[in-house]
Amino acid sequence: MTPPPRIRVLFDETAIARRNEELAQEVAKQKPENLLVVAVLKGSFMFAADLIRALHRAGLEPQVEFVHLSSYLDGTVSSGQVAILRDVESDVRGRDILLVDDILESGRTVAFAKDLLMARGAKRVLTAVLLEKPHKRAVTIDAEFVGFTCPDVFVVGYGMDVAHSYRQLPYVGVIDHMDTEPHLFDEQ
Ligand code: 5GP
Ligand code: MG
Repeated sequence: MTPPPRIRVLFDETAIARRNEELAQEVAKQKPENLLVVAVLKGSFMFAADLIRALHRAGLEPQVEFVHLSSYLDGTVSSGQVAILRDVESDVRGRDILLVDDILESGRTVAFAKDLLMARGAKRVLTAVLLEKPHKRAVTIDAEFVGFTCPDVFVVGYGMDVAHSYRQLPYVGVIDHMDTEPHLFDEQ
């Protein structure tokens, strides 16, 4: 399948699949106990689905939960507020958590989720992100597991959207000549 018009592939299916296996091996090396994967909706759903199966192949037996978070944007600048649209159902007390998100940019989303899980008594919260945009961090936070370093462009595909479209693409791409601001309310 050729990409839709204006979409340029940044990270293709083969590269993503290979990297997911490596990330799962890195996670397994941490010897997590009573592991709970918490995937941040919506953007991480495809990455999480692939990573979870790679975790299985790496010999782990994670349980899986979802949290739907949203950051409110004020024009192009994130206001820094994160809202919980859907919470996890499981008790996280005493558990090793693998927080999974699509992109680490300002760091606010991951920092918020990590603080929340730690405040609820998680033993350890490790973070896996498919993409990291360096030089964009507003809060001091790092992910233990990073798929790829991403250039400072707006990416879509592999679960990530622009105005609700392109999540279905099996690769990460960039829209050439994007002439409008992506969205005022970031649905993640
Ligand atoms: P932050 O780290 O700034 O709190 O939030 C990162 C979130 O903003 C990501 O989880 C993702 O939902 C969204 N985001 C950041 N950069 C991009 C991008 O290039 N494309 C898309 N589709 N979403 C992005
Ligand atoms: Mg997100």
